[in-house]
Amino acid sequence: MTDTIVVGGGLVGAAVAYGLARAGDTVTVLDEGDVAFRASRGNFGLVWVQSKGDGRPEYTRWTRRSADLWPEFTAELRDLTGIETHYSKPGGLHFALSEEEMDARKSLIHRMHNVHGAAEYGAEILDGDEVRKLVPGLGPDVVGGTYCKHDGHASPLYLLRALHEGILAHGGRIVGDARATEVAPDGAGFRAETAAGTFRGDRLVLAAGLGNRALGPGVGLTVPVAPQKGQILVTERAAMAFEMPTHVVRQTSEGTFMIGDSHEDVGFNLTSTTPTMAAIAARAVKMFPFLKDLRIVRSWGALRVMAPDGYPIYEESRDHPGAFTVNCHSGVTLAAAHALALAPMLAAGRLGAELDVFNAGRFDADAH
Ligand SMILES: Cc1cc2nc3c(=O)[nH]c(=O)nc-3n(C[C@H](O)[C@H](O)[C@H](O)COP(=O)(O)OP(=O)(O)OC[C@H]3O[C@@H](n4cnc5c(N)ncnc54)[C@H](O)[C@@H]3O)c2cc1C
Repeated sequence: MTDTIVVGGGLVGAAVAYGLARAGDTVTVLDEGDVAFRASRGNFGLVWVQSKGDGRPEYTRWTRRSADLWPEFTAELRDLTGIETHYSKPGGLHFALSEEEMDARKSLIHRMHNVHGAAEYGAEILDGDEVRKLVPGLGPDVVGGTYCKHDGHASPLYLLRALHEGILAHGGRIVGDARATEVAPDGAGFRAETAAGTFRGDRLVLAAGLGNRALGPGVGLTVPVAPQKGQILVTERAAMAFEMPTHVVRQTSEGTFMIGDSHEDVGFNLTSTTPTMAAIAARAVKMFPFLKDLRIVRSWGALRVMAPDGYPIYEESRDHPGAFTVNCHSGVTLAAAHALALAPMLAAGRLGAELDVFNAGRFDADAH
């Protein structure tokens, strides 16, 4: 018996559980373990604001709020757990490799400026000379780009570890190898059936990534998330070349370059494929020619947790109040908002009105 059962111990479940435990809840996290699909262990590590929320300004505001919370979030985790997430916020760059790409980027930025104004959104359009001043080693194919001062990056693995340690430090419990096979209302609360036993809680938060789709109906929630594969390459370590993350290449604090990412609609398939890896590498070398001399030491495919429109799904069950679901495809970026803004709402038993637009009911409306 616990105050809140959180199903899923990836970045989303762990951030929510950390925030709940920090707010004084007794939290039990149930996690499937190594056999599960886990975007949290295969992602790129950007804390990214630019280009988020074209057509959905509430998402831009929510993303920006998370980026603003990140400095205090990472400092709090470090003080509590001793784990450094390697977060830094030097701003971020998105490059264009042709005039067509540059024009498309300009239209996007202008559209978003028209909705938000420069102060809130903060992305600037730069020509080739301007981006070269910000990042050394750029190739001649880079014709320009966009820069956003709110962007940054972090180590997703250290973040996940810090969140898990933080949950434990606040008295929470994490149960591994505990795949929930069924969740259901149970008296005044809820229960989750797992291989590790039956767990009961006053509240239930479904944060099982792609697993939410099957679990949701048990408590009256429809969670139409689907997989989208991304592949990433990692080079050997090299001398630090630049701190600023870009949308496809970033140098980690350990010195490796992470290079990604693809967007592939191939179902539940994690395979690394040579043509996609070659395309990723070729584009990265066009941006940074010096990368061609580095060896690739790792590569993988991982599955994003995508709603049909790409925005988060935050919802409380109408039929069974007290059961919530939390889903998003930017779990690193939004970790601070999930822990410091969303979790207090869950602890208070109600999602804030600013999250109404992220209700899954929007898909019913689209269908009619
Ligand atoms: C290639 C790639 C690059 C990305 N880059 C970025 C980026 O740069 N910045 C960013 O912000 N985001 C990025 N993302 C997205 C980010 O990784 C995800 O938004 C985030 O990891 C989702 O976390 P999650 O906890 O919802 O899902 P997952 O990480 O998939 O975790 C789900 C968890 O639920 C558990 N689970 C599943 N089913 C059950 C069940 N029935 N019972 C119990 N437990 C269960 C699993 O064990 C797992 O631990 C990227 C994703 C990919 C794939």
